[in-house]
Amino acid sequence: MAGADIREEEALWLATQPDKEALYDAAHDITRVRASREFDMCSIINAKSGRCPENCKWCAQSAHYQTKADVYDLVDKEECLRQALYNERQDVARFSLVTSGRKPTSKQLEQICETTRHMRRHSSIHLCASLGLLDEAGLQALHEAGITRYHCNLETAPSYFSTLCTTHTQAEKIATLEAARRAGMEICSGGIIGMGETLEQRIEFAFTLNQLGTQSIPINLLSPIPGTPLEHQTPLTEEEVLTTIALFRFINPTAYLRFAGGRSQLSQAAVKRALYIGINSAIVGDLLTTLGSKVSDDKALIEEAGYDFCGSAFDREHLWHPYTSTTHPLPVYKVKRAQGATLTLDDPQAPQGERTLVEGMSSWWCAVHGYNHPVLNRAAEEQLHSMSHVMFGGLTHNPAIRLGELLLPLVPPSMQKIFYADSGSVAVEVALKMAVQYWYAKSLSAPDASALAHKNNFVTIRSGYHGDTWNAMSVCDPVTGMHSLFGPALPVRHFVPQPRSRFDGEWNPDDILPLEQTIRQHYHELAALILEPIVQGAGGMWFYHPQYLREAAKLCREYGLLLIFDEIATGFGRTGKLFAWEHAGVEPDIMCIGKALTGGYMTLSAVLASNEVADSISNHTPGCFMHGPTFMGNPLACAVACASVRLLTSPEYDWQGKVKRIERQLRDELAPARHFPQVADVRVLGAIGVIEVKQPVDMAWMQRRFVEEGIWVRPFGRLVYLMPPFIITSEQLTRLTTGLLKIVKEM
Ligand code: PMP
Repeated sequence: MAGADIREEEALWLATQPDKEALYDAAHDITRVRASREFDMCSIINAKSGRCPENCKWCAQSAHYQTKADVYDLVDKEECLRQALYNERQDVARFSLVTSGRKPTSKQLEQICETTRHMRRHSSIHLCASLGLLDEAGLQALHEAGITRYHCNLETAPSYFSTLCTTHTQAEKIATLEAARRAGMEICSGGIIGMGETLEQRIEFAFTLNQLGTQSIPINLLSPIPGTPLEHQTPLTEEEVLTTIALFRFINPTAYLRFAGGRSQLSQAAVKRALYIGINSAIVGDLLTTLGSKVSDDKALIEEAGYDFCGSAFDREHLWHPYTSTTHPLPVYKVKRAQGATLTLDDPQAPQGERTLVEGMSSWWCAVHGYNHPVLNRAAEEQLHSMSHVMFGGLTHNPAIRLGELLLPLVPPSMQKIFYADSGSVAVEVALKMAVQYWYAKSLSAPDASALAHKNNFVTIRSGYHGDTWNAMSVCDPVTGMHSLFGPALPVRHFVPQPRSRFDGEWNPDDILPLEQTIRQHYHELAALILEPIVQGAGGMWFYHPQYLREAAKLCREYGLLLIFDEIATGFGRTGKLFAWEHAGVEPDIMCIGKALTGGYMTLSAVLASNEVADSISNHTPGCFMHGPTFMGNPLACAVACASVRLLTSPEYDWQGKVKRIERQLRDELAPARHFPQVADVRVLGAIGVIEVKQPVDMAWMQRRFVEEGIWVRPFGRLVYLMPPFIITSEQLTRLTTGLLKIVKEM
């Protein structure tokens, strides 16, 4: 179960033990721990039937045998689409075009590609194909048209295949699958059991599939077709079928074992047993020659067996999640409601159909007061009764004014002007624009205008993160960020190495030298230095020494650069100070806040600026700051932000006490991870606890394990971290840290 490989002789030993129930239970445990709990349903269309020149002894479609199978040419694209849409509506995840024959002609292949393109234009069900022994060019064409998975069954053990078919070899099938992989597709490959092969050969077959590395293994039970050489083949007993499924699970612990044709031969009890043992996917629907199962019946049975249909097919097929592939999306979990420091997921397997998780992320660090907070709820409800939105151009309102009044005493004293914006990234865009417009304004009145006219670029430190919009992206880390992709389209910024002096370590004066050198060399073209003070968040969860900020501020003053602090992640208490600049005591010229500003209720950010910045911009052509979004100062968001800031800063709330307690507990409870072989570093600051591991994490696996442990934690890269809501109880926090350590250890 821990992932050790099983050997052939061990598999044979398992298969021949008299206690079958023990074998089934063990296979069930492997399925539960290592395979997907999300049941994967696919469906197929027999897009071309009969007249196959190959002589596979089991097959109704072979021209070598007299059978009653339908004979027809390629089904037209409208019919394929109709069936795809029918399946899509029933939550079926994938739809496969299957054709008889050795392989399609190039004309047929072009028609199939056109059908595929047609289906992709009008439907979003994920598409597979099973078209025989194609070459790489053909497979590439299919992939480009929209096929993401290619199917080709190995059918049976290598030692048995030539007994059943002489017109092609298994090696040709493997070559096709490898070519499909090179063309960028996933592969799907399994076969038929009960064709006269021995138990040893079934085990050999399972190992061959393991070596092939397929994660989708259709398992058919032979349906002896009258007219084929196997028409009188004795069927396997139910015990033989179930034993085979258990062995396939032992040998392919993480794969989707897919019930395919012939399962109607099994009793209802045996089907349920198969689902218990290891079947976690199926070809459903009434579209194959021998399946004859209804999707709704299948779904009921599958849910009864304890599998999920996590998220929904609509979500998978139409909703684009952050940093997520639409063709190979990672699973998403459907949230039913959220309360305090918990999220409650839809979970048909759980007793009440739901599963509650302790929240370790504060929804990307913004929900500091937890969810469904009565004070914030009331603020939103009350505001709704007067107005949810009015434009901020030419109008103003109390929520915006009150919020400003609340914010000013909390931010650096030099911050005198407040520009409301929509989100963190937009705040960063605004801050960068302000800096450029500031120097433009300055250049208009400077005695030596040309000296300032070129100050429109930025310097920053590596491993930073400032958002996903154009200019925000340009100041994110150039390697781990998106520069390689958008590079030529992005403005080129100056990057210096990340300070290596740890927050709680010794200050190494050499840390500042690269910044000093870059500023000295380029100050005439630099408008500002932009930094996340003390804590670099999404760029690496790194906590650096406050002296760096003091030295950096000195350089900015000396060489005439504005200093921008991005406090979007660090603001509102997260690092143990209300804002992170306080650790160093240096004031910026411009500061961005967002995320926890509304307690995570609505999207709102703000850019704060000094009077020097605001006055310079306003006193020169064009006489105003050139930015004004539609939802600027949204009253609903401002009203909730007022309530959140009041709550946070009220003496009874004692945010400092809360964050200190979280910090102490994170320090104590994450410390043991330092000794794990998987772990490179453990660091804690305020309500942030980080475990840096040595290898990048397998996100889908880890996410699922966290959910099973009852906690919500979303790692990235080599970072597994906690940023819980401030209102979390110590018991809830212990659940988070215990779960985190357990799963990191499992890595
Ligand atoms: N700056 C920092 C420091 C951030 O952490 C983030 C969000 N992770 C952003 C900017 C961007 O904020 P948003 O996602 O709201 O655009």
